[in-house]
Amino acid sequence: MKIIMLGAPGAGKGTQAKKLSERYGIPHISTGDIFRANIKNNTELGQKAKGYMDAGQLVPDELVVDLVVDRIKDRDCMKGFILDGFPRTIPQAEALDYALNNQNEKIDYAINVDVPDEHIIKRMAGRRACVGCGATYHTENMPPKKEGICDVCGEKLVLREDDKPETVKKRLEVYHSQTKPLIAYYEKKGSLLTVDGTLDIEVVFKKITSVLG
Ligand code: ADP
Ligand code: ADP
Ligand code: ZN
Repeated sequence: MKIIMLGAPGAGKGTQAKKLSERYGIPHISTGDIFRANIKNNTELGQKAKGYMDAGQLVPDELVVDLVVDRIKDRDCMKGFILDGFPRTIPQAEALDYALNNQNEKIDYAINVDVPDEHIIKRMAGRRACVGCGATYHTENMPPKKEGICDVCGEKLVLREDDKPETVKKRLEVYHSQTKPLIAYYEKKGSLLTVDGTLDIEVVFKKITSVLG
């Protein structure tokens, strides 16, 4: 099953992608996580991406397309994959379709996690991310067992620099102008599934899996 997650920053794409990955035994591929790992390791890609990310802008298409197209050719993607944070522009979606088409494949579901802007800013202020493994929590909605510490790897939890309210506003603008058009793009292809992302995490998950099987 080949799935992509659509939705505003903080809509809950990563949270649902992780649960879907466990349920269906297919890899969760987050481009944001890939960039953050590259920044942490101070790679050339990380150095190129950092300025854009800190400013709440998208990293240029040419830095992300080949990375994803290569990643989905890996052996662990044979049964499918969940892309989280990609595509984020129409050219990225076209490049993905082109690559899949060449192998007679296609995206089965584009899951649109729908959350109005008003909710987003509040939700992002409570998001905490692990500096070690990238796992995400929420101070109120999904607290870790021990405050400030990752359940998975024991490292520190932080508020991401780009989750501060000024940057979230910018990211929402970018979402509306550059990413939202993908909803119509996948609707036209018949692969769109929209879920109300303001519902509880488990309820959203049930709604998705009731369609995916
Ligand atoms: P995205 O990957 O779309 O940016 P995340 O999955 O990281 O979003 O979720 C953003 C924040 O909101 C996280 O702190 C997460 O724990 C929390 N969250 C995710 N889904 C829900 C939900 N359905 N209800 C309330 N909080 C949620
Ligand atoms: P969120 O979880 O809030 O949706 P991500 O972790 O997916 O955010 O992405 C963080 C940042 O990484 C984005 O604001 C953007 O700068 C960059 N990024 C991630 N994926 C892409 C992509 N497909 N195209 C361009 N930039 C990207
Ligand atoms: Zn961790």
